[in-house]
Amino acid sequence: MSQKCAIYPGSFDPITNGHLSIVDRALTIFDKLTIAILTNPQKEPLFSVKERIDMIKESLKGSPNVEVDTFGGLLVDYAIEKKANVILRGLRALSDFEYEFQMALMNRKLNREVQSLFLMTDYKWFYISSTIIKEAAGLGGDISGLVPKIVEKRLKEKFRDAKNT
Ligand code: ADP
Repeated sequence: MSQKCAIYPGSFDPITNGHLSIVDRALTIFDKLTIAILTNPQKEPLFSVKERIDMIKESLKGSPNVEVDTFGGLLVDYAIEKKANVILRGLRALSDFEYEFQMALMNRKLNREVQSLFLMTDYKWFYISSTIIKEAAGLGGDISGLVPKIVEKRLKEKFRDAKNT
């Protein structure tokens, strides 16, 4: 039987417990998941692609069915290249819906063989985004319990280094 594979695309700048909750749920449906970091030259990330990959890999220790990769260009083309016909996205509050709906319809227009699938996050992570985590951490807030340990550590280092320069 062929393997069921999905792509989980995003910026993951940095990965949070919300993202990990989606990964865990997805692994109950799919045999293999590729976390695909979008390398978007228009966005200015806090963490480099390499730093993001390292944090994801460290957070996922013990999940052999998850691969971490990067992509640029059209997501549907990347999905086909990876032999995955599902794009997985997480949904939080209603505010995610409009943008996700627009993206899903555009992706369907571009390639009808690739399906978008949405998983709802656990209520605990409903209001967690990488952006709000970075804001809180940048102001010295305690973000423990919201991100993996390695991310908490790297955020502290990042903002401490920024202060000292
Ligand atoms: P993007 O810049 O593409 O939105 P993100 O890294 O912010 O990339 O998010 C990647 C995916 O993870 C998106 O589908 C987003 O809705 C989902 N996601 C982000 N935060 C959470 C969370 N707290 N719970 C569940 N899904 C989330």
